[in-house]
Amino acid sequence: MSKPSINWHERAAVLKIDGRPLIGGRRVEGLSGEQFDCISPINGKSLGSVTRGQAADIDAAVASARAAFDDGRWARKPPASRKRVLLKFAELILAAKEELALLETLDMGKPIQYSLSVDVPAAARCIAWYAEAVDKIYDEIAPTGPNALALIQREAMGVIGAIVPWNYPMIMSAWKLGPALAAGNSVVLKPSEKSPLTALRLAELALQAGLPEGVFNVVPGFGHEAGEALALHRDVDAIGFTGSTRVGRKMLEYAGRSNLKRVYNELGGKSAFLVFPDFDDLKRAAQTVAGSMFFNQGESCNAPSRVLVHADIADEFMAMVAAEAPKYTVGDPLDEATVMGALVDEGQLRTVMGYIESGVADGARVLAGAKQTRQASGGYFVEPTVFEAQPQMKIAREEIFGPVMSMMRFKDEADAVAIANDSPYGLQASVWSSHIDRAHRVARALRAGTVHVNQYDEDDMTVPFGGYKQSGNGRDKSLHAFDKYTELKTTWLRI
Ligand code: NAD
Repeated sequence: MSKPSINWHERAAVLKIDGRPLIGGRRVEGLSGEQFDCISPINGKSLGSVTRGQAADIDAAVASARAAFDDGRWARKPPASRKRVLLKFAELILAAKEELALLETLDMGKPIQYSLSVDVPAAARCIAWYAEAVDKIYDEIAPTGPNALALIQREAMGVIGAIVPWNYPMIMSAWKLGPALAAGNSVVLKPSEKSPLTALRLAELALQAGLPEGVFNVVPGFGHEAGEALALHRDVDAIGFTGSTRVGRKMLEYAGRSNLKRVYNELGGKSAFLVFPDFDDLKRAAQTVAGSMFFNQGESCNAPSRVLVHADIADEFMAMVAAEAPKYTVGDPLDEATVMGALVDEGQLRTVMGYIESGVADGARVLAGAKQTRQASGGYFVEPTVFEAQPQMKIAREEIFGPVMSMMRFKDEADAVAIANDSPYGLQASVWSSHIDRAHRVARALRAGTVHVNQYDEDDMTVPFGGYKQSGNGRDKSLHAFDKYTELKTTWLRI
């Protein structure tokens, strides 16, 4: 028997929002008393007020994280003990699945079915994965001379500032928390002002799981206030930042102006999807590119927003993709059948519509969508949109971060690679070809942190996620993420 579906509107109506920071193991009042309204993109209405964290709140959170780190209440616990607490944390995330999913959907606008089936499980999986890893990592002994022993060890770094975006609030938080906490650090997390609610609940669940007070603190607020204060703080050892390339640049400046803290940037993208005429299943390629592009309303850093197709098959393939787009029907995010929800806020709606207008003005051909929709709801919705564009057009070069795909023609392999690599970004790319030599050759030539062959969006905790060029300088996920939150120490012993 299938489970009866939940009336999410009824649940939303009785949901209690607590927007206060969590510092030192307790919900506290913001020190400045300032608040902001947390607006739901589903209907433009306020979900409640959230503390507008300021430098003083960040100071309190960093002091609490530092005290927790220095007395070793977490950092000096044996890895197996940290593992137990973090596994419990992952279990509690899953147990709170419905509440977290509802908060995520109300706050950010994504369809409830994906908050339930993707975001919550992925966040829990990430925490559990690092918990499982931490007691299986060994340090090294260098092959030095006979009278010396050189130990090379990884040590927790100290206080980590995590600053995350709004598009996958829980998953992006988990990608920072998993490796940082498992390695023994303390964390101060600043979620996006557009979607702060689930991060605050995660901190409560971590406490409930047995994470000592002060180890994980969350301060909601705006980027130029709480975010800047955290990134400039002299007692923060590293910043794990995910967000735009524009703000990533500032992170490096803040580090230069303060204590040269480590900065790990995971930034924007404009990923290319290359389709060659020898690929034997164009329908699958069309379904894949539409699915990956329109998932999360196109608000994914790795959305394949530049689709390059060989001239010989361009008309056929563009028609196939255009026919896929309307299948991503925009609907009420709280309806379990909805596959495409609301853009995160009115500003994002304006940005996306501005790009659509610029595409039309530049002479790009609309193949699907291009309109705002569901205005009567009061929310911020845009149809899945497909353009045939030219490589130099703004819509084909800049990250739109909405459901807008630019399709372009190429004449041969060299042309395809040149167009794909002609971008300041290098997050992901995809090659579709039935020839193994071509697939390898093109994958090797593409300047991107991840290249998919004949698929897209394959995902696993074991592989790093991050980009070349202005898509960032770090890698989330996988064992490599431990490198970001640990220092390498060499100890020489005379023997
Ligand atoms: P954003 O850069 O505007 O904000 C990200 C975070 O930084 C937010 O918490 C924000 O409050 C904070 N912030 C903003 N200005 C700040 C400042 N001056 N000082 C300190 N903090 C500041 O990005 P966004 O709009 O929230 O997210 C969208 C961007 O994130 C896109 O570019 C997307 O590609 C990128 N992203 C990248 C990845 C990845 O793994 N590479 C994953 C998800 C999103």
